[in-house]
Amino acid sequence: MSDVVLDPARHRIALVGAGIGGSLSPALHEREARALGLDYRYSLLDLDDLPPGWTLRDAVRRGVTGFNVTHPVKQAVLTQLDDLSADARALGAVNTVSVRDGRLTGHNTDHSGFLAGVRHGLPDVRLGRVVVVGAGGAGSAVAYTLAGAGAGAGVAIADADADRTAALVARLRGAFPTGEIHGLAAEQVPAALADADGIVNATPVGMTGHPGLPFDARVLRDRHWVADVVYRPLDTALLVAARAAGCRVLDGGAMLVAQAAQTLALLTGVTPDLDRMRRHLTALTRREGKQ
Ligand code: NAD
Repeated sequence: MSDVVLDPARHRIALVGAGIGGSLSPALHEREARALGLDYRYSLLDLDDLPPGWTLRDAVRRGVTGFNVTHPVKQAVLTQLDDLSADARALGAVNTVSVRDGRLTGHNTDHSGFLAGVRHGLPDVRLGRVVVVGAGGAGSAVAYTLAGAGAGAGVAIADADADRTAALVARLRGAFPTGEIHGLAAEQVPAALADADGIVNATPVGMTGHPGLPFDARVLRDRHWVADVVYRPLDTALLVAARAAGCRVLDGGAMLVAQAAQTLALLTGVTPDLDRMRRHLTALTRREGKQ
């Protein structure tokens, strides 16, 4: 098949991943793009439906002008890319791929989206000492951005899997050699949480299908800020408990919306309205809750 000629004003974005049928991204992106007056379509490319050996370039040949990339290929697609942003390289994972003059460049707006969400939703919070619970994809992005933002007295990582904790600590120390970055053994977690200024849940605990709390919430005090990356539901058991303890809280919708907004901006050059996207997400999740 010959390469199609791409019109820069025509955006055809695809999300590549597994089990993405219920993704909120198409609705979030398309509604905002419409409000911005863009010719923008956002479709799903589920790995289960793609032939073996399929690559991003196959989709580019069919007219795709940019990608979101999600589980389980945020790292696997790296070998298909021509360039990486410095942050994506340091993180070793991408969630966005832009296509310019046939070159595929990987970016990571998960990490910058989390920080933008914090700045927007908890504008005057002191980052200070932060414990990130969970060292998977989301935890890596969150911890990376906090370490890069110079979370005052450091970032501590607590994953139930000690090897994952150690791997993330090593990666972060490589990226931020002067940063205060620690891994926590299980028995160190309660004291670290009690001493922290901020706590981020980056585990799936609290999402639909994974009910419960990622740690004993009795440790929470009103001086803590607490962020969750889980966004289904927006109001997790952790945030309910944190609010009851008087904490300042930020739900996973903040990160979701900010990363989507940054991806949209990267792929189109147009700046979305974060508040409008947030209102849309709230309506979408409310609708889901009623189903
Ligand atoms: P993942 O499977 O890559 O990582 C989860 C990690 O949590 C694992 O390393 C696991 O060992 C650890 N873990 C589980 N329970 C734990 C506990 N009680 N204490 C300590 N560690 C524990 O998953 P992921 O891709 O990082 O996703 C995690 C959550 O983040 C999911 O709910 C996902 O939907 C959400 N997410 C949100 C956004 C957003 O934009 N808001 C972006 C990405 C992921």
